[in-house]
Amino acid sequence: MTNAPSWFNEQVDYSGSSIGFRVTKKLHEEQSAFQKIEIWETTDWGNLMVLDGCIMLTSRDNFLYHEMMAHPALFSHSNPKRVVVIGGGDCGTLREVLRHREVESAVQVEIDERVTRMAEQYFPELCEANNDPRAQLLFDDGIAYMRDAAAESIDVIIVDSTDPVGPAEGLFNEAFYQTCYKALRPGGILVQQSEPPLTQLALIKSMRQLMRQVGFAAVRTIPFPQPAYPTGWWSCTMARKGADLSGFRERGAYSKPFATRYYSADIHKAAMILPEFLREALGE
Ligand code: SAM
Repeated sequence: MTNAPSWFNEQVDYSGSSIGFRVTKKLHEEQSAFQKIEIWETTDWGNLMVLDGCIMLTSRDNFLYHEMMAHPALFSHSNPKRVVVIGGGDCGTLREVLRHREVESAVQVEIDERVTRMAEQYFPELCEANNDPRAQLLFDDGIAYMRDAAAESIDVIIVDSTDPVGPAEGLFNEAFYQTCYKALRPGGILVQQSEPPLTQLALIKSMRQLMRQVGFAAVRTIPFPQPAYPTGWWSCTMARKGADLSGFRERGAYSKPFATRYYSADIHKAAMILPEFLREALGE
C-alpha cells in the first residue's frame, strides 16, 4: 500500500459490528506456524497488532487490558509468589505482573514465539520487564504446560489468550480448568480474559459454570473498557481455589509502589460491582 492514510477494519461476525483504525502503513506481515501476524502504523493509536485478522492491541489503549488482567487477581491473592501467564506473547501482562515485588517468578507460556519477537520490535515498552531475573519466557502450548504442571505449585494463573478458536480453543474447556485447579496452591487464583459481556454472555456463563464444576468455589467476572476490542467493552473472569473473592488487599492496592494508568484500589472496588443486567444474568 502507499503511505496515504487508509483504514484497517476488523469485522466481527459474532457482534455484527466492526472496529477500525486509520493507518498510514503496514509495518510487517508474516504467516507464522500458528497465525498471520500483521503490524500496522496508525495515525492516532500508535502501532497495531493483528493476528489472523483479529485486533490484539494498540500502543494507545493496551494498558486498560493488561492492568486489569494482572492487578485485580494479584491484589486478590494474599501472597502471590509464583505466577504463570498463558498466551500473552506481547508481554504486556507479564510486565504488569512483575511490578509486584512479592512475585518471585513469572513464567509466560506463549505458543507463538513470533508474536513476542514482533512485540520486542514494535511494542518495546511492553517488553521492558522481559529481562527481569524473575521472568521466564517459554514458547510452548499453554494447554500442555498446564497439563504437566506440578500439583499445588502456582499462586496465580493468567490466561491472556486469543479468542476461543484455533490454538486457544482448548483454553476454555473443563479439561483445561481441571489442570489449572490442580496446579494452583490453596487460595490460588485463575484469571482468564472472557470476551465482551454485551455479546458473549453465553460464553462467560459457560466459563463460569465449568470453573465451578472443576471445584473453584468463588468466581467473579470483572468488566472494563477496551476500545480496540469488539464492542469496546471487555471482561476477565477470576476463579479462586478456596475462599471467596469479594475482598482484596485493599491497603496494598492503595499504597502500591508502582504507577498504573487505569487500575487503582477504587477502580478495583468499582469493577467488582456489576451492572444490573450482568448481575442478574450471572447471578451475583
Ligand atoms: N489480549 C488479546 C485479546 O484478548 O485479543 C490477546 C493478546 S495475546 C497476543 C494472545 C496470545 O495467545 C497470542 O499471541 C497467541 O499466540 C496466544 N495463544 C493462543 N493459544 C495459545 C495456547 N494454546 N498456548 C499458549 N499461547 C496461546
